[in-house]
Formats: sequence, structure tokens, C-alpha cells
Amino acid sequence: MQRTVSNGKEGYTDKFFLPRDISIQNLIDYMPIAIYACSLSGHIIYYNKAAEKLWGYKPKAGEDMWSGSAKLFLPDGVPLPMDKWPMTIAIQQGIYLEEEEVVIQQPGGTKLNVLEHPMPVFDSDGKLLCIINVLLDVTEQRKSETKQAMLAAIVESSDDAIVSKSLNGIITSWNFGAQEMFGYEEQEIIGKPITTIIPEQYRMDELMILNKIRNNEHVEHFETYRITKDGTLIPVSLTISPITDKRGNIIGASKIARNISKQKEAEKALQHHAENLEIMNGMGKVISQTLDIDVILQTVADSTTRLTGAAIGAFFYNTVNDKNEPYMLCRLSGAAKEAFENFAIPRSTAVFSSTFNGGATIRSDDITHDERYARNMPFNGMPEGHLPVVSYLAVPVVSKNGKVTGGLFFGHPQPGRFTKEHEDLVSAIALHAAIALDNAKLYAEVTRLSDKKDEFISLASHELKTPITSLSGFLQLIEESLDDGDENKKFMKIALAQVKKLSDLISDLLDVSKVKAGKLPLSFSHFDLVQLTKEVVTQFQYSVRSHAVQLDCKLEKVMVHGDRQRIEQVIINLLANAVKYSPGAAEVKVLVTGNNATASVSVQDFGIGIAPELHQHIFSRFFRIEDEANKPGLGIGLYICKEIIQRHSGRLWLSSVPSVGSIFGFDIPAA
Ligand code: ADP
Repeated sequence: MQRTVSNGKEGYTDKFFLPRDISIQNLIDYMPIAIYACSLSGHIIYYNKAAEKLWGYKPKAGEDMWSGSAKLFLPDGVPLPMDKWPMTIAIQQGIYLEEEEVVIQQPGGTKLNVLEHPMPVFDSDGKLLCIINVLLDVTEQRKSETKQAMLAAIVESSDDAIVSKSLNGIITSWNFGAQEMFGYEEQEIIGKPITTIIPEQYRMDELMILNKIRNNEHVEHFETYRITKDGTLIPVSLTISPITDKRGNIIGASKIARNISKQKEAEKALQHHAENLEIMNGMGKVISQTLDIDVILQTVADSTTRLTGAAIGAFFYNTVNDKNEPYMLCRLSGAAKEAFENFAIPRSTAVFSSTFNGGATIRSDDITHDERYARNMPFNGMPEGHLPVVSYLAVPVVSKNGKVTGGLFFGHPQPGRFTKEHEDLVSAIALHAAIALDNAKLYAEVTRLSDKKDEFISLASHELKTPITSLSGFLQLIEESLDDGDENKKFMKIALAQVKKLSDLISDLLDVSKVKAGKLPLSFSHFDLVQLTKEVVTQFQYSVRSHAVQLDCKLEKVMVHGDRQRIEQVIINLLANAVKYSPGAAEVKVLVTGNNATASVSVQDFGIGIAPELHQHIFSRFFRIEDEANKPGLGIGLYICKEIIQRHSGRLWLSSVPSVGSIFGFDIPAA
């Protein structure tokens, strides 16, 4: 039979058609309840249509016994022997059995839960005539009962709090999970308003949720807070669904609350680690890239102060000044330098000195209770006006050579702020900081020595310049006073040429010092670059016999605004290099080009060339290709040329192929 709901009323769709000549027999035949009867011998003597349908079988009269079902079982599935069948017992014992539940099996294998009611029928003399059995199919009912029981067990065993409430917010059910989570037992909370577990500040959320439920909407994974019986606030994730009655009316809401404290803690821990990682990365990047001691100290002080959550942090570092006198650098974080200005460097106190004297890391929940504290005059503790420090952490910074070069110090006005994690973190950073500081120190030392060398070159070349100039002058006078036929005149010319080389070298060295100091003097004027190049080439060809210098210039004139003498110096330098580094070649080409915007001169040789990987170094100070170290030179010519051309807002360039040759050239703006 089909149960249905229509217009809010329950009813049945199956229709029964009774024959016209209706009799009791007919009525029983067509009744929707299965009925059958057995003789005292157990033979089935009557069954109606409903019984036939239930069995799925049509028993043969006078043949089949006890039941229309070949097999019977107990509700738990255990097969029931025939002598235990309700009908058998009723016949054999002549008794009435009520609601005997068995499971019958239809020929197709379908099993149905059935309540049997075998009832003995007696005649007026009290003689047993037969047994009538009424069979009620309770299969659907049992299925739904099992489902209900399972659901109830799931709800009860769930770790989540599962609660139902009426539409006006009264708690109607409360599982064990809810009891565990909120601390209320079922009997004390049922009938109470749900607001019992909602903190004041989250009550508006509840109104929103109830509104959604009234509109038959679900609320999923809604994160909020609930309050337990003992007043603890716990973060929960709620999933709320409307509860409907059989007719589909919303009568309340079921609420599943999951305690997400652990998840929140994990999220917080993750975020904390991510932040720490970011700080560490940022710091690592800075201290591995810089060689500036101040920047390292400040970056490390700032990062470690953030990582430890300290109110103040300080990085003290022992170093030497320009005069090689020791002094202590201090970089603060979390406090302005002025906050400590009036206090002496604290290294001499008992607490501080232990760190600087190679002692272990000190981590104290309350330094004011440390035995080393308040031992030193004049303050006996922290001086007045000093930021109050209770939690204290001090980590020595040890250099590669094992010497303590500094210390990282942290303070907080509240006790117990620094953990083992902070201590480990700062100790690891102190190791990196020590390496970075060692490198920076080394670099500072190298820079200092390099500056000293530059200073020496500058001084020496300056000192040499004066005697060389007067030597050259006197040699020239002697040379002029000698007769052309005089043998010594030849020697004098050679001596003058050598003195000139020496003088050029000293000039170059002086130029290097000036370039380094950014003080190379230039004197600008308008001049014709074509004419200058022609003059230089002619002059150069006089002194160089090994190579023919070919000038290729299609232009009559290219005016530029620059230092004529310095540009001449550049062209001579390029020509001299071209000859010097192409010993086997016979010629050198000079090309002058120009347009309205740019004027260029390039010098091409057919010599040894330069490997591509060396191009980037070729204009550096004192750079010489090692294979060419036997050739005279100091590696400063191109360095000076580059500076001169750059000061003309131009570009010095090269194009070179090993064993083929090189072209060095410059472009400067045309006037
Ligand atoms: P140097 O006095 O050593 O020649 P430069 O600064 O003029 O100094 O040149 C730097 C280096 O560049 C030279 O030592 C040489 O190794 C290389 N170099 C310069 N010009 C040429 C060239 N035309 N061919 C090959 N190598 C060259």
C-alpha cells in the first residue's frame, strides 16, 4: 500500500474492488491484512490475497504446512527451525501468541519483518478446530527504527557538539559532545535558552542565524565564539540546518559545533613562524649583502628585538676607531638613542661583563632577582630614568677567532617574557651576525689599507713630479747647447726620451689619484676632433716606426666641446695600446666619424685581441691581462681614458676577438 500526503492529509492510493455479492468470506479475502489458517495437522487450509502477496507465493491447499514462507528467521537473522515457528507452537500447544516477530523469506530471496498473531479457534464444545494467523508487515518500521538508532548512536558518540533548538532559541537536545565541550549536562541545559552558551558580544550572530533558519537556509562553517559553563571562551565552527516536521514545517534548528581551538592555535603558530621566517629572511638578506658595520648592527638589533618581542634591544660591538683606539658601538631597537645617552656604557657591571667576558647566554625571567644584579655603584641596579627591565636576555657575539666581540641584549618590563625558543633563535642569529661583522671588519681594514696605498701613490707621484720636471728642463738645455755633430747630443736625446716616459708615467699615476678622489681637472673648450686626430696620428707616426698608422676620415670637421688635451691623451693611449698589443702586425687603423649628435674616434689593431670574459674588467684600475704581464705598463691607461670620456658624457667601448684584433673607440657628444 502506498501512503501519501496530499493537501496536508494522509491517505492511501491503493483501491480495493470488492465483488458485488459481498460476503464475510469475500471481505476477508480482500482485506489488506494478511490472514491465513491451518488445520490441526498443520496444513494450510485458507489464506487471503494479502497473505499471498506477503509470501510472494501461493500455497497449495492440503500440501503446504505451517506457513506460506519456506524459511523463517528470528529478527537477528538466526534461522528458526520449523518446530519453533509461531504457527507450529500455537497448533501444538493450542495457545494464542501475540506479536511474535519473525523474518519471512519470499521465493525471490526478499526478507520481510512480520508480526505473527496465531490464534486457536475452538467450537462451542471447546474443541480446537484450527489456527488463524494474522500477519503484519513491519519491515519499513524496523528499517526506520534501525536508522534512527544508528543516527542516535552517531550523534551520541560524536566529538562535535550536536544541539537542537526550537525556533525561539530553546535548547531541545544536547549530546555528549556538547556536554564535554560546554560543561553543561543534558538535564541542566535542556529547556534553557541557547544564549546560555553565546557570549554577549556574539548574540547578534545568533539573530542572523535564526533568520536564515526561518528562511530554510543552511549555515555552514560559521566561525564564532561560545562560552563554556566555567566562562572559558572557545572558538567554534558552526554548521546549522533547519529541522522540519513531517509536513515540512520548520520547527527548529540543529547545530553542530566543532571546537577549533587547536586549529586556531595551529594557525596562530603557523602565522608566528611565517612572520619569524620573514624577519629572518629580511635580516639574512641585508647582513649577507652589506659590509657596513652600522647597518649590520642596526638590522640585527631590530630583527632580534622583533623576534623576541622585547621592549628594548641593543647590539653592543667592540671595534677600533681610525686611530686604532678601541671603542664600543651600540645600536638600539625599541628605544631612542637619547633614552640611554646619559648612562655610561654598561660593560663594567656584573650582569653585563659576564656576557662580554665570554660567559654563557643569560636568560632571566626576573633579572632584578639575579645575584649579579645591583652589585655595582653608583646605581646599584638600573639607574633612575632607565627603561625598567625585568625579563632579560643576553647573548654573546663571538668572532671566528673565539673572541667575544659584542653582545645582544634584550629587556622587557614584565617578567618571564623570553623563552628557550627566543634564546635559541638569537644565539643562531648571533653566529651569523658574528660572521657578517668579521667580514665587514675585514672589508673596512682592506678599504683602509687601499686608501693608504692611494694616498701613498698620490704623495709619491706628486713628490716625483717636481724633480723630474726640473731634470727634463736641464737635460733639454744641455741638449740644445750641444752641436749637432756632437756624439753626446744623441745620448742626450735618448735620455730626454726616457725622462719623458718617466714623466708620463708619473702623470698617469697622479691622474689615477685624482680620478679616485673625483678631482681630475678638465678644461673645456670648443675644438675640431678631426684636426686633433690628424695631428695626433702625425705626431705618433714620428715616434713609431713598427706600424703604419692609417687614418680614415671622410669628414672635414667635427666640432666638440671638451678638454682638448685630455681627448688627445685618450687617442694617444689607444694608439699606444694598439701598437703594444699587436707586435706581429704592420698597421693600425684610425677611424673618425661623426654626425650632428655624436663624434667618434676608434683605433683598430690586428693583434692578440681580448677574450670576451675579460671585456668587463678591461677598464678597471690596475687591471692587466696576465699573459701580457711582460709588456711594460701599469694597467691604468684605460682606467683614466674611461674617466675622461665619461666626464665628457661619452662612452668608451671595445670590440675584440682573440688572435684577430681589437677596436677601442669612444663616442662623445658633438658640439
Ligand atoms: P697597460 O698600461 O697595461 O697597457 P691599459 O689600462 O692601457 O694598461 O690596458 C689594460 C690592459 O688591457 C692591458 O694590460 C692589456 O692587457 C689590455 N689591452 C689594452 N689594449 C689592448 C689591445 N689593443 N689589445 C689587447 N689587449 C689590450
